[in-house]
Amino acid sequence: MPRPKAFKFTTNSPNQTQKLALELASFLSAGDILALTGDLGAGKTCFVQGLARGLSVKKKITSPTFNLIKEYPGRLPLYHFDVYRLKSLDELVDLGYEEYFFSRGITVVEWGEKIRPLFGASYLEINFKRKLKENERQIKLIPRGKYWQKKVVKLVKKWPF
Ligand code: ADP
Ligand code: MG
Repeated sequence: MPRPKAFKFTTNSPNQTQKLALELASFLSAGDILALTGDLGAGKTCFVQGLARGLSVKKKITSPTFNLIKEYPGRLPLYHFDVYRLKSLDELVDLGYEEYFFSRGITVVEWGEKIRPLFGASYLEINFKRKLKENERQIKLIPRGKYWQKKVVKLVKKWPF
């Protein structure tokens, strides 16, 4: 299979990262899965906060590290997972993860690299990297499957926002 085309963005503040997420939110539909990858402090939760704003989620987003998942009502329901502390896939099976991943909401998973096989063939990977400058981040969108390639191309055409 050819390597999917990835698109790199650079942001220079938490606000810019949230703006990127906000724009992405306008392209999202029920059942979409976003896998956020990258190290601690790279900006994943910050991104989810922007996403939530774009989905008109009213509640404040905090990291679900200890609960594995938090659910928020919005334009579409938002399922925010953080699998940093996940020890075995069984924990997600027990939670009924499929009911979230393949349902009518938007699933976003921090530390998605840990559970890649659960996503199926169609998902958007978003990779976060710190750069030399303190507030600079590289955010790479890696579409998995045609559905995501099309969406990402549309988003990129709007850049800079
Ligand atoms: P993660 O969820 O990946 O562990 P967080 O989003 O919780 O990371 O934390 C990112 C930290 O980096 C926050 O304190 C945020 O204010 C800071 N930060 C600085 N610059 C940026 C940027 N360009 N994008 C996102 N976060 C940034
Ligand atoms: Mg986080």
